[in-house]
Amino acid sequence: MKTTSFMIEDLRVPCNSHCRYCLLACENKTNPTDYKETEAFIRNLDEEFRNTGIHFSYYMGYCMDTSDLHDYIKMSQQLGYPSADFLQLNGLKFRDLGAIANFITDLKDWGINLVDLTFYGLREYHDRFAGRKGDFDYLVDTLRACMRLHMPVRISMPLNKENMDQAGKLYRCLHDLDARNFFIFLPHSKGRGRYLENLRLTREDFDRLPKTIKKNFGKSPYKTEREWLEENDFEEPETRTLVKVLRDDSPYLHLTGRDMLRELEEKDDAFYRAMPSTKELAQIYGNRENDQLFRKRDLIIRYRQAWAKDHPEIEDTIEEYKDFSIRY
Ligand code: SF4
Repeated sequence: MKTTSFMIEDLRVPCNSHCRYCLLACENKTNPTDYKETEAFIRNLDEEFRNTGIHFSYYMGYCMDTSDLHDYIKMSQQLGYPSADFLQLNGLKFRDLGAIANFITDLKDWGINLVDLTFYGLREYHDRFAGRKGDFDYLVDTLRACMRLHMPVRISMPLNKENMDQAGKLYRCLHDLDARNFFIFLPHSKGRGRYLENLRLTREDFDRLPKTIKKNFGKSPYKTEREWLEENDFEEPETRTLVKVLRDDSPYLHLTGRDMLRELEEKDDAFYRAMPSTKELAQIYGNRENDQLFRKRDLIIRYRQAWAKDHPEIEDTIEEYKDFSIRY
């Protein structure tokens, strides 16, 4: 299996929300090393992988409340990483209106030209989902500040059976605040998203959604599990992206990029060597009666997770958020 990309996901910036179904399985660990050391390490790795045919990148999460944010954005711009001009802004600590405006102004000055705000539903549901009272109003204040300061915003709305009836009203409320870029989707089963699987929308649910909501769904096609199984078009991936997740204080600064990648490749190879093909997984775990909607990659993830759960003796690389590979 050819590795085309190697990514380091640094999840050591704690989040101030406590989402019930955090897809990142946030554990609120901080970076125990100095950011400068991490940055020097990342720059070395970037150098190491330049001209090797393996695309290297680094991403920091969970939330952007780090005093090193400007340095991180600068490095992302110099090295062409995803956070060069786009940030996800959920989970920040509450700020007053003036501080929000200053923060957004700073982001603009630093070159950010798109931010994402994720709404889980209307005020009461959103706050419950996000695990803190006031989160909905805080996001609305942030949206208002962005509009006033001409910072482009994308609104993400993950839908499930619990919040689908709020979608139309939420859309109108945010549209009235001049939001225009919506990304509506059904969450995957990574992280604590696995607890949402029973709340996944069916075809019938989807048909009941208002037109505006359907129109703003993400572009990848959604089909029922039954339809995907009938198509049976589960081709085997030929390339992979490997992701090293930094989420605790396990030492890594002494490693070379090659060392890290070799270790990941060995673990990932062993896991997938033991696992049946995607078509076989679909045969074993597929439910032909199921009318719930999936993106194909999300259905495949679910089958792989089911297999991993049935084979605890094999160290896996897919259960989020340990190290993992992306193979689609
Ligand atoms: S804001 Fe994001 S990282 Fe934080 S708990 Fe919610 S989903 Fe997880």
